[in-house]
Amino acid sequence: HTAYVNGTYLPEAEAKVSIFDRGFLMADGVYEVTSVLDGKLVDFDGHIARLERSLAALDIVKPVTKDELLQIHRELVARNGIDEGLVYLQITRGGAPGDRDFAFPDPGTTPPTLVLFTQSKPGLADNPAAQTGIRIISIDDIRWGRRDIKTVQLLYPSMGKMMAKSAGADDAWMVEDGYVTEGTSNNAYIVQGNQIITRPPSSEILSGITRTAVLRFAEEAQMEVAERKFTLEEAKAADEAFVTSATTFVMPVVQIDDVALGAGTPGPVAQRLRKIYIEESLKTAI
Ligand code: PMP
Repeated sequence: HTAYVNGTYLPEAEAKVSIFDRGFLMADGVYEVTSVLDGKLVDFDGHIARLERSLAALDIVKPVTKDELLQIHRELVARNGIDEGLVYLQITRGGAPGDRDFAFPDPGTTPPTLVLFTQSKPGLADNPAAQTGIRIISIDDIRWGRRDIKTVQLLYPSMGKMMAKSAGADDAWMVEDGYVTEGTSNNAYIVQGNQIITRPPSSEILSGITRTAVLRFAEEAQMEVAERKFTLEEAKAADEAFVTSATTFVMPVVQIDDVALGAGTPGPVAQRLRKIYIEESLKTAI
């Protein structure tokens, strides 16, 4: 498969960056994951808008234009024959040979690093996990305070996934002051009666591109949405729960810690939203 590194397409095994790259030394970089359905990019504009916001928050200069990014995404999808899957994009602050300093280098002397690669994921839309739903555990949210910036500092979410795995679950929801913030790599929702409840965007969570689209589709379908914080206790007593992300779309949650939700099977609201999300996303994919 072909990857992209700073202007060059090359075989994945030959795709390399410097040991002095601040992405490697300090997690000084941001990323985006855009899903591919039917060979097309889902919500590309949304992902690039968030990328620009993340870069601006960290004072990293965007190395290429949005049009060039679109062209690179499409080139990789075509070269790698991706029908269903994802495109991963990362931009770091770069790093000069021999340098390791907490202070940022002068952007004029140190160009940012841009890398992209693809992953084929056949069955993304027809994911069997959506039929059974996923089980989650709750863990403390001990991440930093700027979770709205999509940085590559993913060690704790990665540990959370491992904690879930060793507990025999699929994923973890993080909890702060009794309230659910989000999943390790997704936004969290509960359903009480007909009402869909999810935490509003703030520096405490990543504002999901899928989240924005799902809430819009829910409102267009006259479903009731409340953007507010909810506690872990409320979640365990909810009729349904689900998560959203670029690669899982809408994924029903059927168990939180040792509590089964509703009938212990995917709920009607989550299933309906998943169907709507996939149908609508396909229509606007580019
Ligand atoms: N929250 C976190 C912490 C995430 O890592 C992700 C996915 N990267 C999301 C939410 C969902 O965002 P999106 O819908 O844009 O994939």
